[in-house]
Amino acid sequence: MSSGFGHFAVADVFDRTKRSAVMAAIKGKDTKPELTVRRFLHSLGYRFRLHGSEMPGRPDIVLPRLRTVIFVHGCFWHQHRDCRFAVMPKTNVSFWSKKLEANSARDARNSARLRRLGWRVLTIWECHVGEKGLRQLARKLAGNSVAAAPAGVR
Ligand SMILES: [Zn+2]
Repeated sequence: MSSGFGHFAVADVFDRTKRSAVMAAIKGKDTKPELTVRRFLHSLGYRFRLHGSEMPGRPDIVLPRLRTVIFVHGCFWHQHRDCRFAVMPKTNVSFWSKKLEANSARDARNSARLRRLGWRVLTIWECHVGEKGLRQLARKLAGNSVAAAPAGVR
């Protein structure tokens, strides 16, 4: 069942609950990365909303009580730096470079606006939606000691 996870040896970093949550989340290999992240967070007991449509950039996952948003970014569309999935197409180069640069600029703008509104912005890249990336995400969330959002914040 867990044969693929024999190298998962960092037992002290992750308790058993979190570790099995990581494994459960990764096991469904056909699901979209965003679903994997959602399932993972849910299994850890986090409560969240999806697609904050009224927020800059419509974050994929919104954790109001932690005042944190999470973007699950596709490596190509959001131009993950130095990522092998973010290579520029060989045809229509000027079209693509313009489009992809605009995407990156928009991401940066939206993150800045969210931070100004008091949100912590986390990004997990699709190519990192595996055991290591999910562990890091859980650590970042757990390390967030910010108090619950003020009353009235959805
Ligand atoms: Zn990537």
